[in-house]
Amino acid sequence: MRATSNPSGGRPYLAIPGPSVIPDPVLQAMHRPSPNIYAGELVTLTDSLVPDLKALAGTAHFVAIYIANGHGAWEAALMNTLQPGDRVLVPASGRFAIGWSEMAEALGIEVEVLDFGTAAAWDLSQVAERLTADKAHDIKAVLGVHVDTSSSIRNDIAALRTAMDAAGHPALLMTDCIASLGCDRFEMDAWGVDVMVAACQKGLMTPAGVSFVFFNDKAAEARARLPRISRYWDWTPRANPQEFYQYFGGTAPTHHLYGLRVALDLIHGEGLQQVWARHATLAQAIWAACETWGQIDAPEQGLRMNVTDPALRSHAVTALQLPAPRASELRAWLEQNLGLTLGIGLGLAPAGSPAWHGYFRLGHMGHVNGQMIMGLLGGIETGMQALEIPHGAGGLSAAAQALAAGAQG
Ligand SMILES: *Cc1c(COP(=O)(O)O)cnc(C)c1O
Repeated sequence: MRATSNPSGGRPYLAIPGPSVIPDPVLQAMHRPSPNIYAGELVTLTDSLVPDLKALAGTAHFVAIYIANGHGAWEAALMNTLQPGDRVLVPASGRFAIGWSEMAEALGIEVEVLDFGTAAAWDLSQVAERLTADKAHDIKAVLGVHVDTSSSIRNDIAALRTAMDAAGHPALLMTDCIASLGCDRFEMDAWGVDVMVAACQKGLMTPAGVSFVFFNDKAAEARARLPRISRYWDWTPRANPQEFYQYFGGTAPTHHLYGLRVALDLIHGEGLQQVWARHATLAQAIWAACETWGQIDAPEQGLRMNVTDPALRSHAVTALQLPAPRASELRAWLEQNLGLTLGIGLGLAPAGSPAWHGYFRLGHMGHVNGQMIMGLLGGIETGMQALEIPHGAGGLSAAAQALAAGAQG
């Protein structure tokens, strides 16, 4: 009997868009006894995180740390700026914008979604038109997801700010950078962002469980005008703690802080510009392979990128289409045979419908390099061969060329 290959014989590769690959030094830093939470190393370590987080976000203002996932940071950002009856405008390019707006709705906030579908960027002229029409300034905030992880669209946050300013509208600009921070260029203060939410398990390479709300003075003023706020979600003591406990509203997320310290060291050690450049080069290699694989006589039978315009593509996640149910078959084959796990499709077809099996996503955020991406792409090509999924020849060579061209010497 012929032996079959066993994926557990090697290191598995989770290539989904969060949680991302955790670097060994981050894991090692977390493998320790519980520290004292009242004094000593952990207190100093936490103080040291704050400037490094702000540098990552490109802000000189405030950051509040929460023991929560990204959904918690979404809610915290809303709770600190808005009250029931307030109105927000949400330009949407995917499922995550809708998710954030549903959370606002559940808090009693009036939500207006401008839905641009799942394969196009925002039409900022429509955003500007709506804001200009809002003479009474009922709209208190514009919620913009930078990279929508479902569609893999990357929206232009600086241009959104320009559109808001051109309309002369005073709403807060609130952004979700959960999938982009530490992957795609983002500059909070330079781009005029008032509130930004992020989490630690994507570009920040740390196990899920800690998230962040960055905010500026204008947002702090909005917070100060609220009649009341939940004590736990209040960002004020977290950003200006008098006591160590106030950073976290209780016991610190001890081991996450050790992991995060190392993750930030890795990012700032490499250099943020270099980190962005690395993500750009790796993304270009993925796009080169996918575009080449898609070049077949009947393109609708093969692999297609969800976002056709490269200028609108995230550098951290790629959403792809294969005729249903081939996307699900490919994911299953790769996991069973190669130990390679790809992301499910999200928001591009109703969950559980037959069409849902026609989408998948690649995560390429955080702790990834060229040999991992070539392994990822080589795995996908192998799976397409094994399953006889039609694909153009030369995808791996195209990726290799893109990587070689992006190499720094
Ligand atoms: C992952 C993600 C979220 C949700 O984060 P959770 O930690 O899963 O709650 C929200 N927005 C974007 C853009 C994301 O990528």
